[in-house]
Amino acid sequence: MIRCSLHNHTYYCDGKSAPEEYVLKALAQGLDTVGFSEHSPFPWEPEAGMGTTAVTAYRQEVLSLREKYKGRIQVALGLEQDILSPPPAKDWDYVIGSVHYVESEGRLYGVDISPEDQARSIEEGFGGDPRAFADCYFRTVAQVVEKTDCDIIGHLDLLVKYNETAPRFDTKSVWYRRMVSDTLDALLPADRIFEINAGAMNRGLRSLPYPGEWTLREMNRRGARITLASDAHEAENVDGGFSRMAAYAKACGYHTAWVLGKNGWKEETL
Ligand SMILES: [Zn+2]
Ligand SMILES: [Zn+2]
Repeated sequence: MIRCSLHNHTYYCDGKSAPEEYVLKALAQGLDTVGFSEHSPFPWEPEAGMGTTAVTAYRQEVLSLREKYKGRIQVALGLEQDILSPPPAKDWDYVIGSVHYVESEGRLYGVDISPEDQARSIEEGFGGDPRAFADCYFRTVAQVVEKTDCDIIGHLDLLVKYNETAPRFDTKSVWYRRMVSDTLDALLPADRIFEINAGAMNRGLRSLPYPGEWTLREMNRRGARITLASDAHEAENVDGGFSRMAAYAKACGYHTAWVLGKNGWKEETL
């Protein structure tokens, strides 16, 4: 069983719980490591990311929790760095590199804010063509390591978040699979860790985690390393979906996942 949870959002950005609530819940659940990954500031949409002034307070609070719980649980200080937002110039234990917005002709469009917002993005930015939107999305994701120098590649196929209830992207199509494959071509040489992400599943938006099944099998076939991410927005979900993610990963051919231990990254059996 994997006992490391690194993708967690608190009230410093769009999460509901205090950092300490996460630590207490993680202890109760028997986790070895709990990490925090607030969104980097989004200057174009301040309420969604961490405010620039909140970065210092966030860092201080997580570092003080690390001291307080030393010897009981490892507390890690991370950041979910959006590819388009300026990085706060600080040291982090780990960085998750993510794409939440795409750019077209100088304007930004949300990828997953809501099903309605995604429809608007496709309509207004891409002439109503989901394939053009997907192409822009995956071309942006392909640059995420180069632009953010992330340790973890966040939710690779975030665009399919609403695909079960509002299907817009034909994930079985040749063009979709070609885009995924090209994105993997661009990212795999950097040898970073890819997320299996249960954020949408934990919020009832999907029945399975993402990446989608074909994508995850393809990642496995091509040697991509994975980590399990609850993408929690409340402490209750600090290990939300872990057992289902592990079963899903195993069904797609994985036997191990990567966790952040006291001495850095290590591989553990699922
Ligand atoms: Zn994200
Ligand atoms: Zn997140």
